[in-house]
This record gives sequence, structure tokens and C-alpha cells, in this order.
Amino acid sequence: MKPSPQPSPASGGGSKREGACYELAELSAIPMNQEKQPSHILERYPTRVIAISFGLVMVLMLTLLVFSLSRLSAISSALDAVAEEHNNHAALAYTMYNSSRERAFLLNNITFDADPANRAEKIRQFYDLGTTFGNARTKLREYNLVPAEESMLEDQSIFTAVALNLQQEVINLVAADRMKEASRLLQEKALPAQEREFEVINAFIQFQVEETRNSVAAASRLHASAEATLITGGGAAIVLAFLIAIFVSRSMSDLMLRLSRTKARLEESVRDLEFQKQALDEHAIVSITDALGRITYVNEKFCQVSQYSVEDLLGQDHRILNSGVHPKEFFSGLWKTITSGKVWHGEVCNRKKNGSFYWVETTIRPVLDAGGKPCQYVTIRTEITRIKEAEQVLQRGKEELENLVSERTAELREREELLSLITSSAHDAIVMVDDSGALTYWNEAADKIFGYNREEAMGRNFLALIVPPQSRYREKYETGLKQLATTESGHAGEAVELEIMRKDGSECFVELSLSSVQIRGRWHGIGIARDITDRKLAEDKLKLQATTDTLTGIANRRLFNSFLETEMRRAARHHLPLAVMLMDIDHFKQINDGYGHQVGDDVLVELTRLVSNIIREHDFFARWGGEEFVILSPNCDVESMRLLAEKLRAAVETHSFSDISRVTCSFGLTEYRAGDSAEDFIGRADAGLYRAKESGRNRVEMA
Ligand code: GH3
Ligand code: MG
Ligand code: MG
Repeated sequence: MKPSPQPSPASGGGSKREGACYELAELSAIPMNQEKQPSHILERYPTRVIAISFGLVMVLMLTLLVFSLSRLSAISSALDAVAEEHNNHAALAYTMYNSSRERAFLLNNITFDADPANRAEKIRQFYDLGTTFGNARTKLREYNLVPAEESMLEDQSIFTAVALNLQQEVINLVAADRMKEASRLLQEKALPAQEREFEVINAFIQFQVEETRNSVAAASRLHASAEATLITGGGAAIVLAFLIAIFVSRSMSDLMLRLSRTKARLEESVRDLEFQKQALDEHAIVSITDALGRITYVNEKFCQVSQYSVEDLLGQDHRILNSGVHPKEFFSGLWKTITSGKVWHGEVCNRKKNGSFYWVETTIRPVLDAGGKPCQYVTIRTEITRIKEAEQVLQRGKEELENLVSERTAELREREELLSLITSSAHDAIVMVDDSGALTYWNEAADKIFGYNREEAMGRNFLALIVPPQSRYREKYETGLKQLATTESGHAGEAVELEIMRKDGSECFVELSLSSVQIRGRWHGIGIARDITDRKLAEDKLKLQATTDTLTGIANRRLFNSFLETEMRRAARHHLPLAVMLMDIDHFKQINDGYGHQVGDDVLVELTRLVSNIIREHDFFARWGGEEFVILSPNCDVESMRLLAEKLRAAVETHSFSDISRVTCSFGLTEYRAGDSAEDFIGRADAGLYRAKESGRNRVEMA
């Protein structure tokens, strides 16, 4: 089994180890790292800069030396060449001089030698010396001679030519054995002529000496110049070296100062680290293991928590703390992480010496060797047993809560399903709108009543959906909604009857009950609508039946009385004229008796139609009872009423009824008077009618 890097390292006596541990863990926090980095090149590479500086000085000095030596060497060479050339010139000049002088001696000897054989020999030597002279002169001419030298040789040539001629004359005299003449010519002319030649050659030689002397003087000056250059350059190099030395010295002082500050900071950092170590030791469990996971160091806190002594732990691996809570894969994953050089972080359950468990939040950091492989592992743990226990309590609480929520949710779902069942099976439409009037609930019955399905209706404005803008109910509905919005939550409004329009355009009546509720602070309206179209029609029918005469279809006496009261009040209040007329068919009993009850009914219906076609729009026509009718005319005085009655009377009299040739009616009419009761008012009309009957019928009488 692989050794675990888990908490192992231990050792009572490892202050060095401790230092390494904290250094590794906290190195990044050393304050010196926050200091400004040296930016000067000398501060960054001091030795390199110094070496380069001195190298430059050396190169400079060497260059100067080489330059100066080369100059001196050049001067020396030039001097040698000049001296050699002048020496050569001088040597050849000496040869010429000596050979010429010897020729003079020989010629002198010849003039004094009595032996012809000796003279002949000396003459031969004389010519040989002439050849020597000529050769030397020829060699001399081969040099590049300066103009002064050329000039002197020209002079020498002239003087030599003169001397040679004279000498030849001496030789000729000797050959002729005219010795005395020869000697005299020699002494008086030839030798003086040769002396001038000697002077020129001497001048030439003297010139060479002078030139050599001048060359030496020039070389001396150049030498002095080279020396000056060498001395100046050397001085400059020394000054430069001195300056560099000063500069380096200053920089080194700065560097030393900086180093001393850095040292101070490092010492401070070490103190901080010591402090942090103490703080860490107080609160954290620290251990170090070697590459194989064997414990090499543990701190005091480790021993306190695990209940093991340092001796128990050193050399052991993590298995001594294994609680068995974690599976093998947990540790193999951990080991894989740290052996690859990565930091592992997690929560671990360990076992104390007494067998009890404790939880630690663990960070394991591998320490890498120069080759990048972990050589040891630093582990820092924080005990979190209480936190874990609290977490477990919380977890249990959470689970209980979740169970409770789950139960409640199931209950709620059940109720919701029940509610849904109720609402979907309800015959009434149940809808809900939010505070903007948009639909948020729509049951199945609403589909049938309003003609829209749920998908079409949801989110749309309820009012716009079911109440057309032109509907007379629109205002009523809007007012109801506004009232609802300002009422308390839970208020149940009164049911209102509305005529609404379905999706297909058909209209129907609904009875709408509105109530308001607050849901999460927002107002919602709940509407329950019932289709009351059938009931409404039945009611209308009943209403009609209650107020309409079934035979003739006109208003009955009950409706008339209601209308009469209203109009009497208005006439009284506004002082408007109001007239009423009673009409009664004359001898109607005889029609029944003579033609049958059905014919009587037909006459009643036909008469009604006839009258309805004649009266004005605002005249209220009703059956008073039997064969009597009543007409109430608002805003009409008695005279106008009389004219209408006459018109009706004439129309009836002249009308040709279906089964009976002639029918007549009698009319009694009156005008409303202030303070009249209905009985008073109608009573006077009835009195008029009575008088019309009494007066022979088919008449109109006012009262
Ligand atoms: P008068 O000229 O005095 O009014 O005589 P009259 O016969 O018309 O009046 P009377 O009051 O004696 O008779 C009224 C008759 O009208 C009696 C009644 O049977 C008849 N009658 C009342 N209601 C109806 C009805 O609805 N249909 C028919 N066919 N007859 C009716
Ligand atoms: Mg009658
Ligand atoms: Mg009658």
C-alpha cells in the first residue's frame, strides 16, 4: 500500500524543518517581495559591471601601448633606413675620395720613379683606381639622390673631368720620359685641379653627415611625441580607472546599504514568520512527511488533538490516524494529486489514539526538489469537528424539513388537484385577473361560456375579451372593477348581470360575481360567471306576460298604472300637460252574442292594431279591461286629446272589420289637474265615457 502524505511529519527537534515548512508555506507573503526591485544595472549585475569597466580600461591601456610602441618601432625603422642610406652615400663618397687620392699619390710616385717597368705597373694601378672610382660613382647615382646631392655630383664630375685630363697629360709626359715636365704639370696643375674635386667630394660627405644628423633630430622629436602620447594615454587610462573605481565604490556602498536593508527586512520577515508559526502552531495542526509519506515532523497541536505523542507519530504513516470513514479511492485520489505536485484540499475524518473521531479541514502542499518531484509534503489542518457536528445537525434538520415540505407539498398538490377538479367540473366560469386586468386563471366552464379556450384567454385583458367597447355594459363593468380594486382583500362584490360577447360574436347574459384577494401584495380579482341567458329570457317572458295583455299584445292595466304614476309625478313636478282617454266598444256584448266570442276577440285585436297605427309615438296605449282601452298622452292638453279621440272614433266607425260590418266606440277624456290622484284623474275620464254612452254612443266627451 502506498504511504499516505496525510498528516505525518513530525519531529520534536526540527527547527530547521519548521523553518523550511513555513518558508514554503508563507514565502509568497514575505514583505521584501513588496520592496522596489533594484533597477540600476550595477545593482543588478555588480560584478559584471566592474569586470567590464576594468576590461575597458585594460583595452584602452593596451591600445595606447601598442599604438605607442608601433609608433616608436616605425620611428626606429625610418631612422635606420635614413641612416643606412646616408651611410651608403657616405661610404661610396669615401671610396671615390680614397681612390682619387690614391691615384694622386701613384701619379706623384710615377713622376719620380726612374724604372720604366715600375712606372708601367703603377700606371696600370692608376687606371684600376680610376675604375674603382667610376664604379663607386655609378652606384651612388643609382640611389634616389636629392637635388643638392645631384648638384654636388655634377660639380664633382666637372672637376674630375678637368683633373683627369691633366693627369692624362702627366701620364703622356711620363710615357715620353719627360719626367721633369710631367712632375711640374702634376704639381702645378693636376694636383690643384684634383684638390677641387676632393673639396666637392668632402662637401658631399659632409652633406651626408648633416642629413643623418637632421634625421636623428627628427626621430628624436617623433620619439618624444610618442612618449608624450604614451604618457597622456596612460594618464587618461589611470584617471578613467580612478573614476571607475570611485563610481564602483559608490555603487558598491549603495549596494551594501541596500543589502543591509534587505537583511533587515529579511530579519523582520523571519520574525514575522516566527510569529506566524507560533500563531499557526496555536490554531493549526501541522505535520511534514517525507516522499514516502512517513511522518518526520508534527507540532504540539497535532499531538494535542490526536492524543499521540511525538514518539508515537514519528516514522509512522497516515494509517495510524485512519478512521475508516473514507473509502480507499478517497486516499488514492489524494495521493495522486500530491504526487503530481499539486496541492490537495479537503475534509478528512481522523481517529484519535482513544479511538474517537475528529474532522479536519486539510491542505497538503508538496515540496518539490530541484527536479520538480515532491521530496516532502507539508500538511496543515484545522479541526472542524464541531462544524461537522453542526452540519450533521443541520443536515438532519434539513432532511426533516424536506420531508415536511414534501408531505405538505403532496397535501397541497392533492388540494390543488381537488380544487382543479372542482373548478373544472363547475358549471360556472371561474376566472382570475391580476391588478392589470390580465387573466391568470381560466377554468373549463369559462371555455364554454366565453367561447375562448384557456390558451387563448390566459394573459389577455378580461374586459377587452368579453365586453365589446360599444357594449352598454362596458362602463358598468369598468366601474365594478375599479371599485373592486379599491376594496379590501376578500371583499365579495354583488353579482351583476352583464351581456357579454363570445369569441364567435354571439351575445349572452352572465351573472358575474366579483371578489378581490391579495396574493403576495398584489391585488387579484376573482370572477365567477354563470350563463343566465335562458333564465333571462324566461324572466323577460314572465315580465312581459305580467305587463302585457295576452290577447292584443299591448300593455295591460298593471303596466299602465305604473306608467300613469310616473307621468303624473312628472307632470306635477314640471307643470306639464297630461291627458288621458278611455274608449269602450259600443254594444260589444251583442257582438259576442251575435258572432261568437272568437269574433269578439278578433275585433279586439283588430281594433288594437287600428288604434296603434293612429296614435303618436309618445302616446301610451293599454287595455283597461274587457272591451275598454286607455290612452295616456304626456305633454298633451285636453284639446289635442280630443282631436285624437275624434280621429280614432272616426277611424273605428269607418273601418271595415273582418266579420262585422260596423263597430263604434265611445270616448271619455280629461286633463290632469294639480293635486289629482290616479283615481281622480281616471275617474273624470270614466265620467266622460259614461256621458258619451248616455248621449248615444260613438261620441267623445270631456270631463
Ligand atoms: P255598452 O255599449 O253599454 O258598452 O254595452 P256593451 O254590451 O258593450 O257592455 P257590457 O258591459 O254590457 O258588455 C261587455 C261585454 O264584453 C261582456 C263581456 O262578455 C264582453 N267581454 C269582455 N271581455 C271580453 C273578451 O275578452 N272577449 C269577448 N269576446 N268578450 C268580452
Ligand atoms: Mg264596457
Ligand atoms: Mg261596451
